[in-house]
Amino acid sequence: MKLPITIILILFHLQAHAFQADIEPSEISIGDAFVVKINSAETVAPQASLNGDALHFGKCGDGCFIAIGTAGLKTQPGVHTIKFELGGKTTELPLTVKHTAFPEIKLTLDAKRVFLSPEDLKRAGIEREKLTAIFQAASGKHWDGNFIVPLKNEFSTRFGVKRIINKEKISIHEGLDIRGKEGEIITASNSGKVVLAEELFFGGNTVVIDHGLGIYTVYMHLSGFKVALNDTVSKGNVIGLVGATGRASGPHLHFGVKVGGVSANPASIFNLKL
Ligand SMILES: [Zn+2]
Repeated sequence: MKLPITIILILFHLQAHAFQADIEPSEISIGDAFVVKINSAETVAPQASLNGDALHFGKCGDGCFIAIGTAGLKTQPGVHTIKFELGGKTTELPLTVKHTAFPEIKLTLDAKRVFLSPEDLKRAGIEREKLTAIFQAASGKHWDGNFIVPLKNEFSTRFGVKRIINKEKISIHEGLDIRGKEGEIITASNSGKVVLAEELFFGGNTVVIDHGLGIYTVYMHLSGFKVALNDTVSKGNVIGLVGATGRASGPHLHFGVKVGGVSANPASIFNLKL
């Protein structure tokens, strides 16, 4: 059978636009998370990347794929391109990263708290490597709808704050501190699996939840654990109690979010419509 040339062109046109990609929000600050949704007739997950970092997609219904991405602290302001590939077709979408000014705090601390002993340095290094390895893995989608604030109190030190300690040591705050009283309950920000529940040098008693697709939430300085390694948790389940364990100057929750191994601004993840 011979098809008229116009029909062939229409079919080609439909094929070439066989998927629809949307980014929300399409303009973000440095460190913010964003969500990408793809609608397609394909049954395989799309491939996409931002500046070489892959986005990990899961199903969000019939012909719907969803991924959460971030533009980490090292991202330059400007228009970046997210590249998509699905079923042999490609498309691109712009993501605008706004210039973002993070506040600076000057701190004077006792030298003993700033310079670690060789043993402490070694321990902190091993723990950092362990966490880095955890955050590299992208399992299947466990998160279910929007992320919630794990402790509904005032936010204190925000993401990205640059702390200059004793005029020489610079530490960037890669999480969100939430005020809390010793023993207050902390809940899981979303559903997932507990992949770490142990005492760390800096974080003190720490819980890490794997929400799948490369998304992790981190809860530090707890006074007590209410979950154990490999537990499955639902959004809103109690996971621990506020404390001041590890390197904390007083009781609070340090809440962190990792997206594909990169620290994202936790305040931005609460706004994503998932
Ligand atoms: Zn903190």
